[in-house]
Amino acid sequence: MPPRAATTTRALSTPSGAEAGAAREPVNAPDASLAPEPYSHRGLTYPFGRTGPETGEIKWVAEGVGWTRLPVPGSLGHINIWLLEDGDGVAIVDTGLDIPPARAAWDALFAGPLSGRTVTRVIVTHFHPDHIGLAGWLADRFGVRLWMTRGEWLYARMLTADVRDAPPAEAAAYQRGAGWDEADIEAERQKGWGRFASVVSPVPVGFVRLQDGDSVRIGARDWRVVVGSGHSPEHACLVDDAGKLMIAGDQVLPRITSNVSLGLSEPEADPLGEWLASIAKLKTLPDDLLVLPSHGDPFTGLHARLDALADGHLGRLDALHDHLSEPRRAVDCFRILFGRAIGPENRGMATGEAMAHLRYLELDGRAVRDVRDGTWWFSRSAP
Ligand SMILES: [Zn+2]
Repeated sequence: MPPRAATTTRALSTPSGAEAGAAREPVNAPDASLAPEPYSHRGLTYPFGRTGPETGEIKWVAEGVGWTRLPVPGSLGHINIWLLEDGDGVAIVDTGLDIPPARAAWDALFAGPLSGRTVTRVIVTHFHPDHIGLAGWLADRFGVRLWMTRGEWLYARMLTADVRDAPPAEAAAYQRGAGWDEADIEAERQKGWGRFASVVSPVPVGFVRLQDGDSVRIGARDWRVVVGSGHSPEHACLVDDAGKLMIAGDQVLPRITSNVSLGLSEPEADPLGEWLASIAKLKTLPDDLLVLPSHGDPFTGLHARLDALADGHLGRLDALHDHLSEPRRAVDCFRILFGRAIGPENRGMATGEAMAHLRYLELDGRAVRDVRDGTWWFSRSAP
């Protein structure tokens, strides 16, 4: 689908869940306790310091824009959730994994700071399980619609519907292509299939489509949909131009780099090319937005962060190109790309990243691929 012009704007009606006429005090002015110690680091400024909300707590980062956190196992630790005042209720942006501690955190919010308020709609930036996990559960609970881009909704529906007893043959072929040894392929096969569905509540069978360039009125704010790609197929960011806010999802994170992987679904795609093009697109946004990311703290300095992300990938591509003086498989590139050995817990993600970078060099004409016994060997193109 060709990208639509950024000037295209379609007004979308407010949801029926927002009761008209129930005027309510704007209780949620920016929270004074949220600005204890602003600081700057690597060109970014963190106006609220290092103190994010606790589980079950909401901090208000701007008039009618609330911030809460849900637990995520592993190194991420949390996901940020944004709550947008919407008439008498709140619209929820992203929902957390469907795991007991995240459900408990929502229950604490509905019994605490959100008690007496309704939910008007559930918006999800992209299909990854920490974002969509509880979307169906929340939409069901409040009888409201899910709002997403079509690409992300289809991916989530597809992955939750794909139930089978054992991984498909393509999974082993992909791993063999990347250079995994047979023992590791077998160990992965033993883990089974369907881990996505195990942490995602049933995804609603219908949704409200968000498209690049749409304008969505939520409460007193107009949010413009800006779609990026590379981390996921059709990732929605929401930009409030007047209020200078950007809900960035995983499209821009302040400290960690988003995973950009060549995956099983589209093994001949160019996710890194899409990611770099999205960075260039996001650089056309104003630099003075307060960025609300899914992981880490809100920050200003969008352009500096986008430049750092692009430079990081371009630097790794150059190092990888040097490394291809002799044929290499994806698994031979981990140390060059990540500066360390990769264990079984990170092998899948590291493989996807390495494949994305190698595939980019191939499409760029800087590397060639030779397939031998199912394994992809990349080497520098002849000058
Ligand atoms: Zn993600």
